[in-house]
Amino acid sequence: MTTGHELLPPPAAVTEADLLRQQLIQAQRLSSVGELASSVAHEFNNILTAVINFAKIGMKAQTPASQQQAFEKILKGGQRAAAIVHTMLGFARNNSVTRETTEIVPLVEEVLLLTEKDLGKHRILVEKKFHGRPKAVVVPGQIEQILVNLVINARQAMSNGGRLRVEVGENPAGDTVEVKITDTGTGIAPEHLRQIFEPFFTTKAPDEYGRGGTGLGLSVCRQIIEAHHGRIRVESVVGKGSTFTVKLPKQLPEDR
Ligand code: ADP
Repeated sequence: MTTGHELLPPPAAVTEADLLRQQLIQAQRLSSVGELASSVAHEFNNILTAVINFAKIGMKAQTPASQQQAFEKILKGGQRAAAIVHTMLGFARNNSVTRETTEIVPLVEEVLLLTEKDLGKHRILVEKKFHGRPKAVVVPGQIEQILVNLVINARQAMSNGGRLRVEVGENPAGDTVEVKITDTGTGIAPEHLRQIFEPFFTTKAPDEYGRGGTGLGLSVCRQIIEAHHGRIRVESVVGKGSTFTVKLPKQLPEDR
């Protein structure tokens, strides 16, 4: 059975609540940074190993052509490492709450850059489908935060590997950008569908270090999306997988 649940727009918020909400969003972001840190550090180490090896090869190279080839590999490794560090720092530090008209595909690409190593390690194949380069009015760092969360959740639902499909496009009316994240994981029981957006709802049992789910990821995603006048929708089939669709307005309601 496929079940769906769509959230309604937010009620007006008070200032102190706004402040607490910001702090919660920031705390949740730091927890995602922690999730990403170990796989990013491993990837960085792999790049460094390649850079060192190609430097050694280049130093011993007999011909200018093979030296050039080694330099090119070193450059490529350095550029990839720089992109990863830049994206990670941007993600960790970005506390901005300013909305800007933003291309959504590059945000998705940055999130995949940070998570692809981790996904590969868990034998998860990533499929991307981008329909054009749609723009929405968003706080870029917050949208990345949502996407990191959805990707990490999807990965955790596919403990035996699987496929992650990320699709970006516009809705048929052309007023909303939609990001769809589909996994082939466990799926979500119909009776849990409403609860998953509630703070502290988690089905993730603590591991041997006592680390389980916090149940804050989706509730923070919901808060961020509501503040953007967007929507989040989930469809899920137990045993087959889930699709989370994030809908972001191309214009603010007051500008329409
Ligand atoms: P946490 O990840 O800490 O448990 P979340 O708020 O991110 O907190 O998620 C709440 C719950 O929603 C999860 O514990 C899990 O039961 C369910 N869930 C979220 N995403 C998925 C998914 N892609 N597949 C299966 N279950 C999911």
